[in-house]
Amino acid sequence: MVDGGTEGFKGHARVIVPGVTPCFECTIWLFPPQVKFPLCTLAETPRTAAHCIEYAHLIKWDEVHSGKTFDPDNPEHMQWVYSEGVVKNIIPAIASTNAIISAACALETLKIASACSKTLSNYLTYNGVEGLHTKVTEFVKDKDCLVCGPGVVMDMDSLVTLREFISLLEDHPKLLLSRASVTHRGKNLYMQAPPVLEEMTRSNLDLPLFDLMDKVLKDVVHVTGTTSKSDKKTSSLRKLRIVFKGVDGVTDMDTAGGA
Ligand SMILES: [Zn+2]
Repeated sequence: MVDGGTEGFKGHARVIVPGVTPCFECTIWLFPPQVKFPLCTLAETPRTAAHCIEYAHLIKWDEVHSGKTFDPDNPEHMQWVYSEGVVKNIIPAIASTNAIISAACALETLKIASACSKTLSNYLTYNGVEGLHTKVTEFVKDKDCLVCGPGVVMDMDSLVTLREFISLLEDHPKLLLSRASVTHRGKNLYMQAPPVLEEMTRSNLDLPLFDLMDKVLKDVVHVTGTTSKSDKKTSSLRKLRIVFKGVDGVTDMDTAGGA
């Protein structure tokens, strides 16, 4: 995949080669957190165009249309606010930045299609705010990536029930996951919440995990649970590669050429 994006005078272009470069998920942290302006700035001293639009949207709207909810999909409402960009958090685009970034993407595509040169390795940033600055950074794969990472390998006896498996996750040194929910190929094996899903999947707890995973010797399951780090609880999603031991005469998806 050749990916490019711009935000005002800044932009990036990158090449993602499956299995070779970091995948999209590996670098998902590159997306900046959503910016919200403090309400006091808006009420007291709106300084920039964005402040003024938010001022109109958050403060003036209520003064003029008391009780009427602002709807960013209503053209009349948007006309009133007068600029549809910032209210919906759509970032303004600048044609010259778009041209520079699309040229970089086109060049990478040409290199891949014709093999005329080595591709970008692997992330180019462009900044035209003050003068012109470009830089290439080689990002590396995230070894714990849910998409391209190998996942934590767990050897499992085929008789282990789902309930026992969930409690094993709590003590596993690489996981330490409590209250885990388990999915296999998009199917919920056990969900801790909401109550309606917990009730629907509860009967699986006493079944062997091997049976629930369609008696395949090696496969991936995804687990979501809470981890505690210095008294702080965070939810985390992990990829596990389960390998069952001591089973004869069943399909191994890896060696049978399936999956
Ligand atoms: Zn990845």
